[in-house]
Amino acid sequence: MHEHTIVLEGDSRIPDFLTGELQAKLAYVDEGILKATVPADGSRVVLTLREAPDAERARALEVKVRRVLEAMVRGAVRPRQKVLEDHLDRPVPSSADPMPALMERGEVVPEEQGIAALGPLPVRLIEFFERHFVELAEGFGARPYRFPTLIAASLLDRVEYFRSFPHSLTFATHLREDLDVIEGFAKDAHCRDEALHIDPTALSGIRALLSPAVCFHYYGALAGSQLEEGVCATAVGNCFRYESSNMTSLERLWNFTMREIIFVGPKDFVLENRELARSRVSPLLDDWGLAYRVEGANDPFFVGDFKKQVAFQSAFQLKYEIRALIPHRQGTLAVGSYNFHQDFFGRNLGITLPDGNPAFTGCVAFGLERMAYVFLAQYGLDSAAWPEAVRRGAG
Ligand code: AMP
Ligand code: ZN
Repeated sequence: MHEHTIVLEGDSRIPDFLTGELQAKLAYVDEGILKATVPADGSRVVLTLREAPDAERARALEVKVRRVLEAMVRGAVRPRQKVLEDHLDRPVPSSADPMPALMERGEVVPEEQGIAALGPLPVRLIEFFERHFVELAEGFGARPYRFPTLIAASLLDRVEYFRSFPHSLTFATHLREDLDVIEGFAKDAHCRDEALHIDPTALSGIRALLSPAVCFHYYGALAGSQLEEGVCATAVGNCFRYESSNMTSLERLWNFTMREIIFVGPKDFVLENRELARSRVSPLLDDWGLAYRVEGANDPFFVGDFKKQVAFQSAFQLKYEIRALIPHRQGTLAVGSYNFHQDFFGRNLGITLPDGNPAFTGCVAFGLERMAYVFLAQYGLDSAAWPEAVRRGAG
């Protein structure tokens, strides 16, 4: 395999607030792209390809990349990056990438890109954080739920997920009920280059996907009902987002777990609880010694929807993220989010308030693998260096 690099000069400068999103989206432009980067000056796009393209293919690639630039960059307005809390300068003892040591000790065992088994060290940390998140949920009188890993295609359709996040979907299918098909598959099935070779016509239609979030299940469960008052629920579950070549380390997984605390009810009920949750989460993060910041954010919409949706989320302050410091790459990583969806789910799913109007929803979501990862990135693997509260609970 001969890697090959092509450089596309931009028509206009790519603003710094877009480079991360743009790099992530360029991974989906073509199967030949191994990596896409935008240098700090935003002047161009550098694509690392699997192999050298011929002239025609190079042109086709350029057209697709320019389409992305056109959709995401042209006319983009810097979102109001409101910072609500800033503890990024809290001193932390480690500046090493925890991944090599975690892999060497068998604490993280990659199975496929974006799929990893976790050993006792990260698991004890996750269980420790989880105990506190569950307690936090109980403080809101949250009703406990367990949701399936699969989610109905019809539910995702009703909440317009396909339009906004097509790139990250993971489909569930099975063999068609047909004796010849099933016997034929059993006889011939094999993996080549880590991919299962299969006749696509042997597969069923798609009625379910692997769930990309936890709270959709709760809104689905409430569909068509009238609430007497605001309700709160909590659940932890497997979530799936295909993040292409962006899946490296525990930072970005295909299969990860999320704890969510979900509020459904009148607008003030949801907004007040979102704020109350934030005021109760920060003391926990402080106890755990984390360096982090809470700031305005947006969801990773796909190219076509991106500009409009980001402007909308930013204008209405629909999403805040807890971004923890990653010392070894002098960056931050979202470990959790506070979301307000207005009455979007209430409207689309027919969840109503006593006055007949659609209910409002919001959720607080924590990425559990990322919690463990950022803690280890800031404090290292040796529990002797950990803050007292974490050492006692998870050391
Ligand atoms: P979101 O619903 O996008 O705000 O996600 C909630 C949280 O889930 C994020 O703050 C992350 O901590 C976590 N998360 C989202 N995507 C991934 C991923 N691909 N890998 C690991 N954790 C993720
Ligand atoms: Zn949610």
